[in-house]
Amino acid sequence: MTIAMQQPISSPEKLDSIARHLFSPMGAPGVYGRTGLYEGIVRALEDYITRQRQSGTHVYRFPPVMTRAMIEKSGYLSSFPNLLGCVCCLGGSERDIKAAVSRFTCGTGEWTDSLSSADLVLTPASCYPIYPIAAALGPLPADGLLYDVAADCFRREPSNNLDRLQSFRMREYVRIAKPDQIQSFRKEWMERATGMADAIGLPYRVDVASDPFFGRGGELMAASQVEQSLKFELLVPVISQEKPTACMSFNYHREHFGEVWDIRDDEGNHAHTGCVAFGMDRLAVALFCTHGLDPKKWPQSVRATLALD
Ligand code: AMP
Ligand code: ZN
Repeated sequence: MTIAMQQPISSPEKLDSIARHLFSPMGAPGVYGRTGLYEGIVRALEDYITRQRQSGTHVYRFPPVMTRAMIEKSGYLSSFPNLLGCVCCLGGSERDIKAAVSRFTCGTGEWTDSLSSADLVLTPASCYPIYPIAAALGPLPADGLLYDVAADCFRREPSNNLDRLQSFRMREYVRIAKPDQIQSFRKEWMERATGMADAIGLPYRVDVASDPFFGRGGELMAASQVEQSLKFELLVPVISQEKPTACMSFNYHREHFGEVWDIRDDEGNHAHTGCVAFGMDRLAVALFCTHGLDPKKWPQSVRATLALD
């Protein structure tokens, strides 16, 4: 499915001005303090997505960390080891810890040399923690499960581009069910999400996509993902037409998470899963780039959709 994409694209000057009004640098690329103006729109988007929630949806909000064991088991480490952030702490005796700190305070060495990895990683996507929670419930009900999840996510992809952050907010609707139920969930959501993008006045196209699997083996995995049409993205020309920004993704994981977590449907088969993911920060940046810095001057229909009046 491809939808015609229209103008506009932001000039470097406009992007600079947008960045200054929305973000304050915090000393690392893609990690920003966010202004009230920006957060007001993120909240309005969150509420708009909440208004799309179907009845019977279970709601979870996750912290920015999850267990290392879960992420290892989920397959993320094998597929995206370069993007994963791991929590490290100073351990050992008081003496060990004091020695590490005094290397820093005395300038004699790196305190970080004494770090050891904790049992936590930084959550890389908001749906990863939900699968073990669903698995613990036992066999799925006949109509499967539907979740609304969100988390502050981390991916190690430092960039000065406004649309590529290391720390960003992700919101998802996740379906755990039988294969045909996942297919229709994804199809319905691709229609609903394009309607949402229309309603908030974003230009876009929807295209098949792949995840950035690591290394040479990763290229094969990405090709197979495209071949099976497992991932679609809603692409908005935020910075350029040639490289539009993926603001939402529509994913079919087949039986992957069902097998990993041994989630069974009511007939005893491994469950299939799918998710629709909203990049909250990318959507907010796209709105400011498209409609300008003053939400009061945004088109009336967009203001009404986002309940800004
Ligand atoms: P993915 O799991 O890669 O499909 O990501 C889900 C959504 O999160 C994407 O459609 C983006 O909108 C958003 N996202 C992914 N990576 C980043 C990033 N580095 N910065 C901001 N948003 C991101
Ligand atoms: Zn997901």
